[in-house]
Amino acid sequence: MAGTLITVTAPSGAGKTTLVRGLLQRDPNLRLSVSYTTRAPREGEENGREYHFVDIESFLEMRDNGGFIEWAEVHGNYYGTSRAWLTEQLWEGRDIILEIDWQGARQVRGAFPDQVSVFVLPPSLGELENRLRGRGTDNEGTIARRVQAALGEMRHVREFGYVIINNSLPDAIDELAVVVQAARLRYSNQHKRHPQYFSFLAKDC
Ligand code: ADP
Ligand code: 5GP
Repeated sequence: MAGTLITVTAPSGAGKTTLVRGLLQRDPNLRLSVSYTTRAPREGEENGREYHFVDIESFLEMRDNGGFIEWAEVHGNYYGTSRAWLTEQLWEGRDIILEIDWQGARQVRGAFPDQVSVFVLPPSLGELENRLRGRGTDNEGTIARRVQAALGEMRHVREFGYVIINNSLPDAIDELAVVVQAARLRYSNQHKRHPQYFSFLAKDC
């Protein structure tokens, strides 16, 4: 598979969607995987754009048929990444970003050892709460539950290859762009993508 796979993980509200959107605008060669979820759409979300919104029965059927490369239950809803879509994209040499939780990132690491994983930390728990409130999509009960859950999620930060502190948004986008660029330049990627630069060397280069 010649494509580069990058996972981006963060507790809800840390800014990973904003960050990834900023990067996608800058980097036309990157594609975002659209996950399946049983969560209800938020205002402004469109089926097929933010998520494929499905009911629990359809999700479980797809899961049981091996349709997901990874899946997890997060905040009481199911989320999963399409196996068929992802493998096809990577075979075609596309660079793909997955915005998934730490449980999913762990499964992706198992399935694609060459992937690059990034964890996004908020500058503080207080700022995380402010951002959740500022986003205006969750009620106070949900915000309290998400802040509480964030601590548990952030404890998995050490499992990730890279960490970005999302304090200044432009700086964080720059940092994510650097990680993606470095991932593209790894030996395994370069060798698969540009075999002509290696072919005159010894067989094992
Ligand atoms: P996530 O996808 O991690 O749940 P979002 O991207 O929805 O988070 O961001 C949560 C809120 O925080 C949004 O209102 C967004 O505009 C804001 N935000 C994101 N990054 C920053 C930042 N660096 N500084 C200030 N606000 C931010
Ligand atoms: P939200 O409902 O706020 O969009 O997302 C909630 C959480 O689910 C976030 O941590 C997000 O990264 C995670 N998530 C979204 N899609 C997937 C997915 O396909 N797989 C996994 N494992 N987590 C996902």
